[in-house]
Amino acid sequence: RFNAPIIVVSNRLPFILVRKEDGTLERKQCAGGLVTAVCPSVIECNGKWIGWPGIQLKSEDEVIPESNPDDKSPTAGLLSNQVEPVQVEPKIFDKFYNGCCNGTFWPLFHSMPDRATFSNETYEAYKQVNDIFAEKILTALRKCLAQLDEEGRMDAAPLIWIHDYQLMLAATTVRRVAEDEGLRCKMSFFMHIPFPSWDIMRIFPWDDEILEGILGCDLVGFHIDDYCLNFLDCCQRRLGCRVDRSRFLCELDGRTIHVKSLPIGIPYSQFAEMSRNAPKVLKEKEQQIILGVDRLDYTKGLVNRVKAFERLLEKHPEHIEKCILLQVAVPSRTDVKEYQALKEEMDQLIGRINGRFSKPNWSPIRYIYGCISQEQLSAFYRDSAVAMVTPLRDGMNLVAKEFVACQDLSDPGVLILSPFAGAGGMMQEALIVNPYEIEEFADKLHRGLQMPFDERLLRMKHLQRREQAMDVTFWLNTFLSAVGILPCDVNYSP
Ligand code: UDP
Repeated sequence: RFNAPIIVVSNRLPFILVRKEDGTLERKQCAGGLVTAVCPSVIECNGKWIGWPGIQLKSEDEVIPESNPDDKSPTAGLLSNQVEPVQVEPKIFDKFYNGCCNGTFWPLFHSMPDRATFSNETYEAYKQVNDIFAEKILTALRKCLAQLDEEGRMDAAPLIWIHDYQLMLAATTVRRVAEDEGLRCKMSFFMHIPFPSWDIMRIFPWDDEILEGILGCDLVGFHIDDYCLNFLDCCQRRLGCRVDRSRFLCELDGRTIHVKSLPIGIPYSQFAEMSRNAPKVLKEKEQQIILGVDRLDYTKGLVNRVKAFERLLEKHPEHIEKCILLQVAVPSRTDVKEYQALKEEMDQLIGRINGRFSKPNWSPIRYIYGCISQEQLSAFYRDSAVAMVTPLRDGMNLVAKEFVACQDLSDPGVLILSPFAGAGGMMQEALIVNPYEIEEFADKLHRGLQMPFDERLLRMKHLQRREQAMDVTFWLNTFLSAVGILPCDVNYSP
């Protein structure tokens, strides 16, 4: 199927390595939807995956183990010679990851500049780590080309596919060296978080370097048109590039860079099947479940959501003892102060509301601070009357899509969705609510809990049809066709 190998580059490898007691290494799976979709293609095209293995290796040439024979995960077929682990000194990695990626780019790109810190030191670490990745990419590229030449495939150019905001500078370095050495390749980038408008982007002191870094690629993908247009706008205003907004093109140094919006999907049929098979986890039949599933991150709007739920109980006391809020909050970036403060705030808020409304046999909020399996999640999704996906800003949001995939049409639930998630622009049949408007939010919750069957069914049917068609495999194939690594036979009409 593929006309050249793909070299995928992401901050983390699709599995992490753990050191066993006897000192040997073992793979541990951490497969999300992206890994599930992309891994089979890397295996099929005999490509490579470059990323941080989650551990410090003992030496440069410590061998990456093959997968266990009983490993059924999507990464199982990825041979050790297809994996290039990136090693960074822990102090530098901390400045790069906690400092620059999570302390600067994450809040800035989510348009929350007040939460961002800017420091020369962490940005230096960011540049250093991107250079280390660039070196690894070049090594992998040389190996791929040697293999292709041996096979007589002189016209095949490997695709380097860089992912996300941790690696915005690597492409320019790779391009420079590849041009010097005459290494043939195609380069593409996909951003999994939003891209901010020019007035936000210009706050970053080295914004020109970031824009040029991304423009090192031939194809740059974002989830939605708005992020593409923001990016083009920044390139024009900061770098003076000529851009074509209707065709999504940008010119730099005589090269034309294609910018493309391509909303990522989920492994839809996998979730649908999981939800059909998952045992019922929640025993209460008479209570309606309002569900929230998020990493504990300030972009997810958790505080506003819990406040809206409190307002619902105030305004509509008929829901007391008739519904619960089930909130899963996955611990995230626990080394960062902002995240510790948010945990405190949530603990206090939930404690106060539970104290205020609880009855001897009922508490309004059930709060899980931890990570649960997707099998269990699929049952939560299926059994909930309402799901609240109400981030203040979110690149896409997969939870909204997973909820839809898991609905049983004999009693479909209602999706309440923020317009500030990438998913919000497409999933128009959801109940759209501005998470900053607590009063309206509470009203929408009330409406969701009471929505008649026919309306729930109509909305959910449309939502399911779209997510099923635009699943993660569709996303992958469309991206690879656009960059010319797969034949162009995919019809793309969101
Ligand atoms: N998830 C999970 N266990 C949990 C909570 C979430 O496996 O306890 C998964 C969820 O199924 C989804 C992902 O985490 O695939 C969250 O993705 P999303 O795009 O919604 O948010 P992100 O965390 O990437 O910002």
